[in-house]
Amino acid sequence: AKGAGKNRYCVYSEEMGKQELRKMELEKDLHPALDNEQFFLVYQPRWNVKENCLAGWEALIRWNHPRLGIISPGEFIPIAEETGLIVPMTDWTLKKACLQCREWQARGVLEPISVNLSVRLFQTGSLQKTVQRILDEAGLDPQWLELEITESMVLYDIQEIIRQIEGIRNMGVKISMDDFGTGYSSIGLLDMIPLDTLKLDRLFTNNLESPTKRAIISAIILMAENLHLEVIAEGVENQEHVDFLLQLGCRNMQGYFYGRPMSIEQIDEWMKQRSI
Ligand code: C2E
Ligand code: CA
Ligand code: CA
Ligand code: CA
Repeated sequence: AKGAGKNRYCVYSEEMGKQELRKMELEKDLHPALDNEQFFLVYQPRWNVKENCLAGWEALIRWNHPRLGIISPGEFIPIAEETGLIVPMTDWTLKKACLQCREWQARGVLEPISVNLSVRLFQTGSLQKTVQRILDEAGLDPQWLELEITESMVLYDIQEIIRQIEGIRNMGVKISMDDFGTGYSSIGLLDMIPLDTLKLDRLFTNNLESPTKRAIISAIILMAENLHLEVIAEGVENQEHVDFLLQLGCRNMQGYFYGRPMSIEQIDEWMKQRSI
C-alpha cells in the first residue's frame, strides 16, 4: 500500500511538472506570437430563432503555436492577462473584428460583431480612445460593435468601470454581460451597469430538465424584457434546448446547434448553405 502511494505521488508530480513546463513554454512564446501573426479569429453566429435569421457574430481568438498547434483561449488568455499582453492583443482583435464586420457589410450582411473584453482593458484608462480610433480606422459605425464584459469585473473598481462603460456606450457601441448568472452579484449589477444585452451562461441552457433552472431562466428573461435588454442563450447544442428556450421566451441563441466558431472560409460555406 505504501508503495502504491509513493507511485501515485510520482505520477502526480510528473503531471504537475508537465503542466508547469507547458505553461512556461506558452508564457515565453506568447509575446512574439503577436508580432509573428500566430493569432487568428474565428467567428460564431448568433441566431434569431423567432425570425429564423442571422443576428450577429462573436469573435473568438485562437493561437496557432508553431510547435503545439492550435491553443484555446481558455489556456492562454489568463497568461496574457498576467503578462499584460492582453492589451495589445485586444487592440489587434478589435481591429481585425471591425474590419471583418466592414467586409461582410460590403457584401450586404449587416450584423453586429461582438468582442470579449478582459478587465485589464479598463485599467489602461484609454479603452474608450482605443475603441474610437479602431472604429475610425476600420470605417465601422459604432452601432455594429458590441463589447462583452463579465460579472467578475465587479471585483475591481466598479465605479471607474461604469464611468468608462458609459463613455463607450455614449459613442453608440453596445455592451453585453457575458456568462450571466455564474458570477457574484448578477442582479445587483444590472441596476448599476448600463447594458444592452444579457448572455445567459451555458450552465442554464444545459440544465433545462431542472424545473428550478427553468424558473430562473424564465424570470431572467422577463426581467430583461422589462429592462429593455436583449437576451441571448449561450451553449445551445440541440433541438431540445431550442424548444425549451423558445417556450421560456428566449429569441436569440448561440451555440453549436447553429454554428461552431468558424474561420472565414468555413463561414462562406455556412452562409451559402443558408442562402445568406
Ligand atoms: P465565452 O466568451 O463564454 O465564449 C463562448 C465559448 O463557448 C467559446 O469557447 C465557444 O467555442 C464555446 N461554445 C460556443 N457554443 C458552444 C456550445 O454549444 N457548447 C459548448 N460546449 N461550448 C460552446 P472558446 O472559443 O474556447 O473561448 C473560451 C473563452 O475564452 C471565452 O468564453 C472568452 O471568455 C475567452 N475568449 C475568447 N476569445 C477572447 C478574446 O478575444 N479576448 C478575451 N479577453 N477573451 C476571449
Ligand atoms: Ca463571450
Ligand atoms: Ca459566454
Ligand atoms: Ca466565459
